[in-house]
Amino acid sequence: MISLKPDFCDIELPEQQYSIEDYSSSKARWCSGCGGHTILNSVQKLCTEEQLPPEKTVFVSGIGCSSRFPHYMKTYGFHGLHGRAFPVASGVKFRRPDLHVFIVTGDGDCCSIGAGHWVHAIRYNMNMVALLFDNSIYGLTKKQTSPTSPLGTISNTHPTGSVLPPINPIQATLGLPNVSFVAQTVDWKPKHLYATIKKAYEHKGLSFVRIVQRCPIWMKDSYEPTVKDPDAITLLHHKDGILLDEKGMKSFRHVVEHDPSNIVKAREVAELVKETTPIGLFYQNENNSRYDEYGAHNLGITKEERINAIDSMMDRYAI
Ligand code: SF4
Repeated sequence: MISLKPDFCDIELPEQQYSIEDYSSSKARWCSGCGGHTILNSVQKLCTEEQLPPEKTVFVSGIGCSSRFPHYMKTYGFHGLHGRAFPVASGVKFRRPDLHVFIVTGDGDCCSIGAGHWVHAIRYNMNMVALLFDNSIYGLTKKQTSPTSPLGTISNTHPTGSVLPPINPIQATLGLPNVSFVAQTVDWKPKHLYATIKKAYEHKGLSFVRIVQRCPIWMKDSYEPTVKDPDAITLLHHKDGILLDEKGMKSFRHVVEHDPSNIVKAREVAELVKETTPIGLFYQNENNSRYDEYGAHNLGITKEERINAIDSMMDRYAI
């Protein structure tokens, strides 16, 4: 409670409380049954539980179905260019380290045209959360093969089936220098999805979360068996990993112990994807260099001085 001075007023005002409506903008225009809806719900829940000030929270996206995300959040947002979510978000975070910055990207946006930016954002390791909505197809443009489409996927670009093996975004990220947080979840396990996004938010560094996302319009046959088959998912469990309550744990038939401080083992577990979909925390290391911190030291100014400098620069353009 905020207590105002008694000689001024003795009424006690409650601290500002944000409800989920404070983060919800227009109704999401994704298809019915799209995995994007549950991801949006989880992110809005996180914002509410963490009481993130909407004016201090930014969602940056590229292009694609998932990249409509900033429109559905009543926060700041930037719906930008294809593949450019990472550099735009990095610029925001570098100059405004006080903001909560989230990156929303899709498999085409991140792993194809944006792959170069993805690699360097992982290496720069700035304190942000990157959510990769991976439905393994270009959905917005009506079914073209994406870099994560399974071999043999029939699409408009490959009517007789795709011919190249897909990129495994977890494996690729774990191979990058200075990687500090890699996790995987699925949109149809809301407890695990939420716990993963929360763990990513709490991490100090660039948190990379791949969310296996249903696209019932173009990839129904690909995801339906995984959603229905309890043997299709393996839960990674560890006291330092993503923790679920007893009820949440019971919804998984296959559980393996995996210590997220072991990057060599994490790379081996990422290979499991050929037989099953492993979900959980693959790797975490909060001791890696963070470019957002280095940048402040390098400029010889404090975080506050950096924010004031960008504010006065922007004021020059105020109308
Ligand atoms: Fe979601 Fe697929 Fe529809 Fe895009 S096309 S909104 S990914 S269901």
